[in-house]
Amino acid sequence: MAASRAASRDDLEAMSSTIRRWVVEQAFDSRVGHIGSALSIVEILAVLWGRVMRDPGTDDPERDRFVLAKGHAALALYAALRWMGLLDEDVYRSYCGDGSPLGVHPERGIPGVEVTTGSLGQGLSVACGLAYALRQRGSLARVFALVSDAECNEGQLWEAVMFAAHHRLDNLIVVVDQNGMQAMGPTSDVLDMGSLARRWAAFAWLAIEADGHDVNALLDAATNRIADRTGPAVILAATVLGKGVPFMEGRLEWHYRYLTPELAEQAFAVLEAHP
Ligand SMILES: [Mg+2]
Repeated sequence: MAASRAASRDDLEAMSSTIRRWVVEQAFDSRVGHIGSALSIVEILAVLWGRVMRDPGTDDPERDRFVLAKGHAALALYAALRWMGLLDEDVYRSYCGDGSPLGVHPERGIPGVEVTTGSLGQGLSVACGLAYALRQRGSLARVFALVSDAECNEGQLWEAVMFAAHHRLDNLIVVVDQNGMQAMGPTSDVLDMGSLARRWAAFAWLAIEADGHDVNALLDAATNRIADRTGPAVILAATVLGKGVPFMEGRLEWHYRYLTPELAEQAFAVLEAHP
């Protein structure tokens, strides 16, 4: 069973701060990048795992499922799983080491990881399959998928969007981490999508915009604001790449770069000053 739940806004903020610090610490210890992409989803993970999802990571057939379509941000998911009591600290700290179950991308078999992901554009298709199968089975479990804004460039994603709308999958809730960046540049330069909310709404989804770093706004979006849906819902979460570490915020290089000891020291100083 998941050990912890975040009861209040303060708890969700504390959970977010802890996850953020654990991400930076472990990225530094393991000399691995993708830090910026992990930091932009911290509050989204805290709200979903800490509060919204029912019995996530358990073996209850009625548990809500989670799909991290942007698999390269797995370190943030591992930190959330650690906070939930689903991963031991020593396993978490083995991240990307020899023999560790925790790679850069998450693999099925890790507690709380339902689907192996990392091939961008594919996660939502799997989430649709899960949601469709659960409904066929008469289950009330829901599927939450977290996708990147750059994944919205992929044709396969829009096939899944159409499938979910056609089948009125009201047990499917997607969050788009709209950090405005992708590996090769700002999303508006690589392939400008304009208003993602308008695009998803045009495909008959309930589309809601929210501040992706405001736990109250996210909680309201993932509960009250999608309550009346008759099909799939998407939350377009406005986020910042590298959120919480000023020299990373909105900086493209932090998609891949890893921390030197000097930069790690700067990052820890900020995170400790603003816990
Ligand atoms: Mg992005």
